[in-house]
Amino acid sequence: MLAALLVLATLPQTNLMETVPPEALRATVEKLASFQTRNTLSPTLVEAAEWLAAEFRKIPGMQVELMKYVAPKGQRIPEEREVLQVVATLPGKTDRRIVVGGHLDSLNIGVDPATGRAPGANDDASGVALALECARAMAGRQWENTLVFVGFTGEEQGLIGSRALAERARKEGWNIEAVLSNDTVGSSGNKAGQKDEKRVRVFSDEFDPTPASDARPAHSSRELARFVEFVSRGKVPGFGIKLVLRADRFGRGGDHTPFAQNGFDAIRFIEVHEEYSRQHTADDLPEHMDWNYLANVTRTNLAALTALADAGPRPTNVRIARDQGHDTKLTWRATPGVRYVVYHRDTASPVWEKSIEVGPVAEFTVAGINKDDHFFAVGAVGGVPVLAR
Ligand SMILES: [Zn+2]
Repeated sequence: MLAALLVLATLPQTNLMETVPPEALRATVEKLASFQTRNTLSPTLVEAAEWLAAEFRKIPGMQVELMKYVAPKGQRIPEEREVLQVVATLPGKTDRRIVVGGHLDSLNIGVDPATGRAPGANDDASGVALALECARAMAGRQWENTLVFVGFTGEEQGLIGSRALAERARKEGWNIEAVLSNDTVGSSGNKAGQKDEKRVRVFSDEFDPTPASDARPAHSSRELARFVEFVSRGKVPGFGIKLVLRADRFGRGGDHTPFAQNGFDAIRFIEVHEEYSRQHTADDLPEHMDWNYLANVTRTNLAALTALADAGPRPTNVRIARDQGHDTKLTWRATPGVRYVVYHRDTASPVWEKSIEVGPVAEFTVAGINKDDHFFAVGAVGGVPVLAR
């Protein structure tokens, strides 16, 4: 029994490649693209949401909600109306939550939103399939933290569903540690012949609307992005994250943004070379997608998720001792029993260069690394680190 539990506990990390079969992702994307449209204003969106909810309900331990929210009258919404989105929760031992999602709705500009064909295979059945596969892979054991898998809707009408969930989370006091939004993650190349099968872009904003205090640890979507890059590095053979130090692409939006605006750390995954001419058309079809690529993006999410899912709370008051010296002393306010990791990087490097597990302590001296030339951070094992100041 103990041996079996041990195998389960380490499954996602050791078997990342086997855990995510490209055929399963393909089956989900093909099913979702087979609905005439998943436009937020269409009756078939409800069918797609019910299908997705039923898939989540098949996963042991999953609590599935068809969340209703009101989409206000707006540019792409002629009348105020009630809309559904799918929120599937795998309860952990704590109320700290990690959110992974994609948007279930699709768009074809220029056709009747209720009936016009909008397959939305890459944008964004790819992200929904990824979230479902992550849910299947993470089920089967209880994690420290609560995992929330979301099929957002109203994305194409102005991020309405993600805003509804982010605002609800803030009002209900959800303790969200990380939001991984995946939108358009299923193709490695475009018609111009540009191709990158080896990387996925991660966009993040540095903006944090709620400053840190003694009570509240520092939050930063940028630090989440940097951590996800670091913790997934080398986990998926031949594949990794290309950080983009921007909130999103020019003139475009994503479901991470309302969460960031509500004070949660939120980042966006997207393929490197988009094919703009297929987006929001009847030609966003499964036949243009690269299933191995989508599987590698999913595995990269899982590498981050397995770390975040077992992380303790963030340290507060992470400080660098100001006195001169060749070594750098860091101090922080620790939670008893939580083990910590110290990270450092050259000030000119965008990514963490090294991490040191330091145990259940509240201070550590990094020998031979000069504080004037480096950034430092401290995090709970598996958690988003807090920049030392
Ligand atoms: Zn999208």
